[in-house]
Amino acid sequence: MKYHIITFGCQMNKSDSERIAGVLEKSGFNHANKCDGVDLIVFNICSVRQSAIDRASARIKKIRLKYENKNIKYKIILTGCILEKDKKELNKFCDEIFDINELPKLPEILKKLGFKIRSVEFKKKHYFELMPKYQSPVVAYIPIMTGCNNFCSYCVVPYVRGKEISRPAQDIICEIKKAVLSGAKEVWLLGQNVNSYNGKIQNTNLKVKKEKEINFPTLLKMINDIEGNFWIRFTSSHPKDLSDELIKTMAKCHKVTPYINLPIQSGDNEILKKMNRPYTVSQYKALIKKIRNNFKKYRCGIEKEVAVSSDVIVGFPGETKKQFENTKNNFEKIGFAFGYIAAYSKRPQTAALHLNDDVPNFKKKTREKELFKVLKKTILNFNKKFFKKTAEVLILTKKNDFYVGKTRHYQTIRLKSDKNILGNFVKAKIINIGPYGLRGKLME
Ligand code: SF4
Repeated sequence: MKYHIITFGCQMNKSDSERIAGVLEKSGFNHANKCDGVDLIVFNICSVRQSAIDRASARIKKIRLKYENKNIKYKIILTGCILEKDKKELNKFCDEIFDINELPKLPEILKKLGFKIRSVEFKKKHYFELMPKYQSPVVAYIPIMTGCNNFCSYCVVPYVRGKEISRPAQDIICEIKKAVLSGAKEVWLLGQNVNSYNGKIQNTNLKVKKEKEINFPTLLKMINDIEGNFWIRFTSSHPKDLSDELIKTMAKCHKVTPYINLPIQSGDNEILKKMNRPYTVSQYKALIKKIRNNFKKYRCGIEKEVAVSSDVIVGFPGETKKQFENTKNNFEKIGFAFGYIAAYSKRPQTAALHLNDDVPNFKKKTREKELFKVLKKTILNFNKKFFKKTAEVLILTKKNDFYVGKTRHYQTIRLKSDKNILGNFVKAKIINIGPYGLRGKLME
């Protein structure tokens, strides 16, 4: 029996797909790189953006059309973080739909669909406890928490993922140790709001075994202390939970790369209020200043620079030209090294659904483009700091004649080598820079 998984969404969805693959392989399925000839296609999708749902829905319908005409037998299962409304719309194209939290029930679902699977029993487990099948030999996505208590007015995550749940620290440490032993060189700690991680750990110093709570900075220190040569990255962070303790810990833990994704969402205070984001632009800027100062204090060389990436929504209900200009100006002033710009789209169940979505689509698109221009400029300015400097690089893939990797600052870098350096850490001198990445020369 063969399976293929199609994922639409963020790194958390990618990580969930690795756990789905783990369950399928334990059940007796083998992975296939494409849909042709498989017995099972799993769509792991996300309702956060309407555009993602539209793309997923178009793909499911296309597959149905393609294989139905050829009378091929296969099943489609849909999972992910999906709103009820989207489930209803896609129901007739799928053989089964389940929420990602119900992943331990997948073997039962497969049996119900007529698959003769190996007997596996996961029922009582949380889906985090299921062993993943990592897609990459060197990058390990490790979920540390799921859900969100913040209810930003535009976001469906609290409705589809539920309240925040933190994974026990021992489980996280254990999974990371195993991943590092099997060759992982980059560990991504994932969660909708990793900064508010509040997990439990067994207090071994006591004669009577007792659990104690630990926060994200403590977890980060524990992961940093794991033996081995690997990088730590994490996403996503909410500015309101980025404590001084966390900033200092990041800067002092040298396995943590000098990169942070800190979504600002808007550069205008009024819009932030309407978004239910409880900080002002000045408070956000003060955080960035603190991060930069701490890295300057505790790191050396180019590690003193921090790459700050951000997510932003343009065309939020009621966003005036002036408010958008505020976002543009602040984007430029903060100097982001990366950014993810999205045009606002109405989502069911959210508070913003009741606001007048009065920015026309063409204006949202224009604002997206205008902000992207600013972003290209700030990325280029950031990358300029690296010209002729030496960077540590993790090589992730090879395209044509070039090896492509990521620097510790998360810049994409291309370089040539006669040796096979795939999956290795290498040192490269930066010989060319641009807004989309760097060119490097391999140092011996
Ligand atoms: Fe959504 Fe806001 Fe939670 Fe992020 S913090 S997942 S944007 S509700």
